[in-house]
Amino acid sequence: VRMELCSLHDIIRELTPLLWADANLRGQSIEVRLDDELPNLLLNQKEIKQLILNLGRNGMEAMGEKGELTIETRKRVDGVELSVKDQGPGIPAAQRERLFEPFFTTKSQGTGLGLALCLSIVERHSGKISVQSEEGKGTMFTVFFPCPENVESW
Ligand code: ADP
Ligand code: MG
Repeated sequence: VRMELCSLHDIIRELTPLLWADANLRGQSIEVRLDDELPNLLLNQKEIKQLILNLGRNGMEAMGEKGELTIETRKRVDGVELSVKDQGPGIPAAQRERLFEPFFTTKSQGTGLGLALCLSIVERHSGKISVQSEEGKGTMFTVFFPCPENVESW
């Protein structure tokens, strides 16, 4: 997979109209908070778009009508964090460990492949993905991307 040094924010900005359109159809809104001190990262743009869309759509699907999806970036000492937070029902503890398994879905029309793909994309970027969820309050997926100098070169 081709990795190039690029701005995560440019990718998020390119996706914003698409996410907005999706949210509007559902009566939901989107809040984007970008840390303006973010360094460039070694990314495959197509994969990162797919990652953000999958996390964003899951969040919107979880919220049903109304609710706000928050996409946020944060600079860390050794990398960058991207989080996608929803105000949905949360994820029962028993399900949390199965989320990234291929074909795990609780949706009648679900494929269960979205998060499995997200995990493989994050791993190809030498990153990490985690989930925090509180039942009745919502869910936040956080992706960590290491600084380019800490990514093993190919
Ligand atoms: P799919 O969306 O096709 O079901 P995913 O791999 O994207 O497959 O997600 C797997 C399952 O994880 C979903 O069916 C749902 O139960 C749970 N899930 C994922 N994201 C969220 C979220 N933001 N809020 C609540 N549950 C979620
Ligand atoms: Mg999905």
